[in-house]
Amino acid sequence: MEKINNLKNALKKIPGIGEKSAERIIYFLLSSNREIAESLTHSIKDVMESIKMCSKCGGLTETDPCDICASAKRKNILMIVESARDIMIFEKGRKFNGKYHSIGGLIDPLSGIMPENLHIKEIPTRIKNENIKEIIIALSPTTEGETTSTYLVKTLQDINIKITRIAFGVPFGSDFDYVDDYTLSKSLDNRREIEE
Ligand SMILES: [Zn+2]
Repeated sequence: MEKINNLKNALKKIPGIGEKSAERIIYFLLSSNREIAESLTHSIKDVMESIKMCSKCGGLTETDPCDICASAKRKNILMIVESARDIMIFEKGRKFNGKYHSIGGLIDPLSGIMPENLHIKEIPTRIKNENIKEIIIALSPTTEGETTSTYLVKTLQDINIKITRIAFGVPFGSDFDYVDDYTLSKSLDNRREIEE
C-alpha cells in the first residue's frame, strides 16, 4: 500500500526509528488509536508553525529573540553548545544562568562540515554587543567536539576574554544524551580555564 509506505519512509527518517518500529507505530495508530493519531498530527503541525530558531542563539523559541536572549537577568556568560537540543538539556538542569550560543553542529571534515558551515563567526559580535565576560565551551567530548573546541579557542584567542571548558565526569566519546542532570551541573561547577 503506497500511502502506508510513504508514512513508513517518513517515520524511518527519524533518529532511532527503523523499519520494525515504523511498522509498529503505523499499525498502532491505524488499529484502535485514531484519536492519538489525530492529536499527534495536530501537535506536530502546531509546533512546526509556531516554533522557530532564535536568530541570536539558535535555540528553539516562539518569539525572536528568545526569552533567554531577551532576559536582563541572565549573566554575561556565553555557553557555546552544539545544538538547540543542548540548550534544552542545560535549561532543564536549571543550573546555568547565563546565555547560550548554538553553533549548529561540530566541525567534521570527513562529512564536509567546516567552520564556515557553523554559526561560529557570530560569536565575536555577540561578545562585543552583549558585553560577554566569559565563554564556556560545552561541546561533547568526542573527536569532533575536541576539534571544534580547539578551533574555537584559536579563533577567540585574540579577544581578551576568559575561556573555560566544562569538565566531564563521563568517558570520552559520550553524548550529552547519556549525562544526567547531576553530572551536568557538576561538570559546570568544575569548569576549567583554558591555558593558552
Ligand atoms: Zn535566543
